[in-house]
Formats: sequence, structure tokens, C-alpha cells
Amino acid sequence: MKKAYLTVDDGPSVARREKVDILNQYGIQAVWFCEKRFMDIRKDDVLYTIQSGHIIGNHACSHPNFSELTLEQAKEEILLNDQMIERIYEEAGVKRPAKFFRFPYGNEGVTRGFYDLDYSQEEKERVESIQSFLKENGYVLPSFQEITYPYFDAFRKSGRVDWLWTYDAMEWCVYQENPPYGVRTLDDVLEMMELDLPDRWMGLNYPGSADLIVIHDHPQTNEMFGPIIKAFVDMGIKFARFDDLIK
Ligand SMILES: [Zn+2]
Repeated sequence: MKKAYLTVDDGPSVARREKVDILNQYGIQAVWFCEKRFMDIRKDDVLYTIQSGHIIGNHACSHPNFSELTLEQAKEEILLNDQMIERIYEEAGVKRPAKFFRFPYGNEGVTRGFYDLDYSQEEKERVESIQSFLKENGYVLPSFQEITYPYFDAFRKSGRVDWLWTYDAMEWCVYQENPPYGVRTLDDVLEMMELDLPDRWMGLNYPGSADLIVIHDHPQTNEMFGPIIKAFVDMGIKFARFDDLIK
């Protein structure tokens, strides 16, 4: 049996409530990594997400590429979004269970970060400063002990607290001008799930590890959200609750 955790990045989009309802029909809890620029205009939908039993994570205010920010800008992107999330939890009357952060585009976390590839001393210090800032502000990465992929293990051991993932639904590819991986349709998205390439971030059919899945709350793919979640469930994935990791 494949165990997985679900994260939903970006937004909230106009279809946030429908997506929350879909997950709740399946009894799936997600961490929704939200941006202040959209929470500002759809705060009620964030309240709804929280009050429906889900967790709000920090995905920076405006989805910047952190590699292009100064350290001060990076801190502001994290902190202003953090304060917004804090206020919404207060308004919801729900205790914020934990603080989670994922970099937009995964950068500083995936592209080079934990491999320490061609980092200059200055970049290295900058990356470490951001990590320290996250930790000072209470951000954590649960241990996810059942995720056993070597790259995830390396990440975990690096002591970083931003959230990596192990499977990208890749539905965001379909509306790109040049779709990455040739993923152009819902069928293409579903076909990617059949691959068995655990070393290449496509291990849904590999029984030796749990997975941390990311899908996105993008308006361009609202219609695909339900079918993709259904496909995960139909292939036998059992979604675990984050509550159990942060007790
Ligand atoms: Zn994002």
C-alpha cells in the first residue's frame, strides 16, 4: 500500500472551496501553501480551508524566484505572508498547528540547494541565512520517516526546514507554451502516474517509500483537480494526515 501526503501549492484560486470540498469527500487532509497576493482577495476561502480541517503553509507573498531576491526581500516575503496566515488563523478561531514553508519554484530547495552544486560562498551564506530565519520564526519540516528516497534523506539530513516534495502532479505543464515532459492533457498527467522511476521523482508505483505529493491550486487547471485526486485514490494511494506528524 502506498502512503502519501498531499500538498497544494499556490493560490487560493477562485475554485479553492470546490477543491477543499473534493478533498473532504475523500477524507484527505492537505497542506495548502498559499500566497499573500491571493489571500488578500480571497481571505474567506482561506478561512474556509482552515475551518474544513486543512493546514495553511507559507509560499511567500508574491511567488518570487528567491534566487533573485536580496536577503532582506526574502525575509519580507516570508514574514509578511507569515503574519497574514497568523491573522487568518486567529480570525478562524483555530490554533495554527505548525509553521510550514515551501519555496516558490522549489528553488533554494531543489534546483541546487541541498546538492551544494556550484554554490559560491556568498550564495551559501545567503541560503543558510534564509534557513536560519525560517527556523527563528518557528518553521519546521516534519521528519517524514516513511519517505525513504535517497534524495529526500539527503535533504532531511541537511537540516533544511523548507518543504521538498517527492512527486509533482505536473498538471501545471498543460497550459505552458512548451509543456515540460510533453504533458499536454489530463491523460498525459494520468499517464505520468504510471511510471516507476523512484530515482527520478516518479515513484508512485514504488512500494518502498511514502510520497509527498504536490498539486497546484491554479485557475487554468481547476477542472483537472478532481480527476487527478480520484486517480491517486483509484491507484490505491492512502493519504495520511499531517496531524499525526505534528502532535
Ligand atoms: Zn508555487
